[in-house]
Amino acid sequence: MQCPDQGISFQNHHPQPQLPTITRRQTVSAEVGGVPIGSAHPIVVQSMTNTDTADAPGTALQVEDLARAGSQLVRVTVNNDEAARAVPEIAARLVDMGVRVPLIGDFHYNGHLLLAKYPATARALAKYRINPGNVGGKRRDENFRTIIQIALENHKPVRIGVNWGSLDQDLLTSLMDSNARETEQRTAKQVYVEAMLQSALRSAAVAEEMGLGHDRIIISAKVSGVQDLVDVYRQLAARCDYPLHLGLTEAGLGSKGIIASTAALSILLTEGIGDTIRVSLTPKPGGDRTEEVQVAQQILQSLELQSFNPQVTACPGCGRTTSTFFQHMAQDIQTFLAAQMPVWRERYPGVTELKVAVMGCVVNGPGESKHANIGISLPGTFEDPKAPVYVDGKLLVTLKGETIVPEFLKILEGYVERTYGAVASSGVT
Ligand code: SF4
Repeated sequence: MQCPDQGISFQNHHPQPQLPTITRRQTVSAEVGGVPIGSAHPIVVQSMTNTDTADAPGTALQVEDLARAGSQLVRVTVNNDEAARAVPEIAARLVDMGVRVPLIGDFHYNGHLLLAKYPATARALAKYRINPGNVGGKRRDENFRTIIQIALENHKPVRIGVNWGSLDQDLLTSLMDSNARETEQRTAKQVYVEAMLQSALRSAAVAEEMGLGHDRIIISAKVSGVQDLVDVYRQLAARCDYPLHLGLTEAGLGSKGIIASTAALSILLTEGIGDTIRVSLTPKPGGDRTEEVQVAQQILQSLELQSFNPQVTACPGCGRTTSTFFQHMAQDIQTFLAAQMPVWRERYPGVTELKVAVMGCVVNGPGESKHANIGISLPGTFEDPKAPVYVDGKLLVTLKGETIVPEFLKILEGYVERTYGAVASSGVT
């Protein structure tokens, strides 16, 4: 029998071919509020709030949500006096809430003024993000130096984050002019990319000349096109050993934003490029901001770079699964795992590596179930109304009737307790 899913999505629910081991690009290690960033450390997931930073209670609550979802760093915009004044209160509220996530300040145009005017804010932030294209017209260099000086005084790292949409226009014009004089001219896009790279790297050099440690600088160069991002970061990676913050800027809404970010980040991460990532999604009005954290984690987990949650392998279903029972069961198992994870993560070290298979029929069900730690294969149309359960590759039991789901969840819970509880009690993590 041929599973219709086989031809188009081999990796969806069939044994995956061994991925080549990903070798990270070698970088120095930076530290942001106690979170190490660089090739010697796991890739760090970060996110950004979309609340008005001046609303300290609201922003603290969203930072909490993002942190609890797994964001290891959270950035807030610091765009005016009210926002700058609110930062220490946000930090204090987070301490009261028991949330220990480093806060990063995002500065444009007036960062030099705000950081100088609000020293408590400069102290409360774990890192300053500076966009060299947005530090202020004619006094750009002076303003940039002011921020670096404050970073030095407060022992803070910085991210020098250039952006396609706010590139240093003087630098771009000068590179365009010199390109025009060349006999073999580069395309306008190539000059644009070069301007981004030079803007970032020259700014980093200035910061180092002022005394900022080589290990206190993280670089990003974000664009909104997938191929462009890959191009920019490959070049950036080849020209420095700073840790790189990776992200597709203005990725967009819904599935477009998720897919574009995943496409771009996956290529670069597979090449070992990227030390901290952010997925910039535009949420629906009132939507869940933590989605960007979940997507970032899922990208890292799908690439087998890190494990955050047990993986549920589910076939997409087809005409062989006539009812919605299969969809409900896959959803119930996913929901059950999500609900257990806050406790399981603490109690059962290694449980994030768990692989569960939920399959719709006999075509690939038993085979895929055997490849998972624990798997169930539901009866498809015209199959006997029974669901074999496999544990560590062996048939354990065949479930029948209305109680298939609760019985399977009980078996799953027992498996986790036996397998990962033993790890915990042995002290091996
Ligand atoms: S129900 Fe799932 S496993 Fe069975 S044939 Fe369809 S896609 Fe493949």
